[in-house]
Amino acid sequence: MSILHDIQAILGGMWITWKHIFRRPETISYPEEKRVPSPRFRARIVLTRDPDGDERCVACYLCSAACPVDCISMQSAERENGRRYAAWFRINFSRCIFCGLCAEACPTLAIQMTPGYEICNRDIMNLVYEKEDLLIDGCGKDNSYNFYNHAGIGVTQPRGAGAEELPPVDVRGLMP
Ligand code: SF4
Ligand code: SF4
Repeated sequence: MSILHDIQAILGGMWITWKHIFRRPETISYPEEKRVPSPRFRARIVLTRDPDGDERCVACYLCSAACPVDCISMQSAERENGRRYAAWFRINFSRCIFCGLCAEACPTLAIQMTPGYEICNRDIMNLVYEKEDLLIDGCGKDNSYNFYNHAGIGVTQPRGAGAEELPPVDVRGLMP
């Protein structure tokens, strides 16, 4: 029984090999010819901006905590109006495994994956990207979302003025 099973496995493997021997090879002359990645392909990471042009990242460290290989680091800072930002933000792409967990964890949509796969470099120090290298001018995948309109209550606008935010309740008015 086990011999039959072994023969079947060998024949199955040989069938796959023979099937591909007669196929036309698909050779792409990279870098002259670029391959178009699939729509959900995840590669180079960027930091995006809010629709008002301000940095989306609030330096909450969630992406850093979610990263399984520990390749994101930053230092948080705060403006006078209470809005947080990353004083510096660093990703070591020589360790990144492009799993996308950082983008999943980000509450502000700041960190996003792009299909840009041409970031190989022989000097791994060139794969350490600082905030200036990561921050882009646009919003990336969602050009309408602004974290502070929803969750930055009392920071960039008075309480009750945010989108989908109800006016504050005067609890003393609820007294019997
Ligand atoms: S894609 Fe994965 S490995 Fe790369 S920085 Fe994000 S969480 Fe870390
Ligand atoms: S990129 Fe997103 S998850 Fe990471 S620190 Fe900034 S706001 Fe937080």
